[in-house]
Amino acid sequence: MVVEHFRQARFVASASSLAQAPRDSGHEAAFAGRSNAGKSSALNAITAQRGLARTSKRPGRTQLINFFALDDERRLVDLPGYGYAQVSQAVKARWQRHLALYLERRQSLRGVILLMDIRHVLTDYDQQLLSWCRRAQLPVHVLLTKADKLRRGPALAVLQQCQQRLSTLHPGTSAQLFSALKHTGVEQARGKLSAWLAMETQDADMPQ
Ligand code: GDP
Repeated sequence: MVVEHFRQARFVASASSLAQAPRDSGHEAAFAGRSNAGKSSALNAITAQRGLARTSKRPGRTQLINFFALDDERRLVDLPGYGYAQVSQAVKARWQRHLALYLERRQSLRGVILLMDIRHVLTDYDQQLLSWCRRAQLPVHVLLTKADKLRRGPALAVLQQCQQRLSTLHPGTSAQLFSALKHTGVEQARGKLSAWLAMETQDADMPQ
């Protein structure tokens, strides 16, 4: 079962630059989003672990790239959240450089999950990240988080508008509704990650 594979996720390392990252082999999928977008909640829901992403929230770790291994060949990567952090322009600029370098140079990186609160989609930061990914030819899959905050109709309308804008910002980018609270879209997100991480899903998940 795919969920069992995700449940294996274990924290392995924090890095403040590409040079400190674990060996660049196998497959990796990264999670990005503004602070408070719901990234930790999504990581916990996808890995079916309550406290996994708490590691990334410990003091001193919020500005680091945090790596979680599913096995020797597959990792989920929690990129630092942007936005509310009270840091200087110089620190922000340094961070942007590290992030852009990670997206550009990381050979094992197969795709980026971009999380956006369904009530605040495609902020300047999100657009900046999409443009880096586009330049690096990296696939992006968007989770519109906290979808439970809107009724179904309005949520689907935001999804559709967002898909339209994504088709010009970074053609090929997919998007879905997601709620960690209601467990909406968790399987769909796992499906995307399984494909990027080349997980063996077919045999195990086929009904007998
Ligand atoms: P992060 O800063 O991006 O890691 O965001 P968190 O996962 O810590 O979530 C930020 C806030 O949004 C917290 O108060 C969460 O309880 C809330 N939140 C996260 N996911 C959901 C969701 O699916 N539905 C609702 N209603 N709130 C959520």
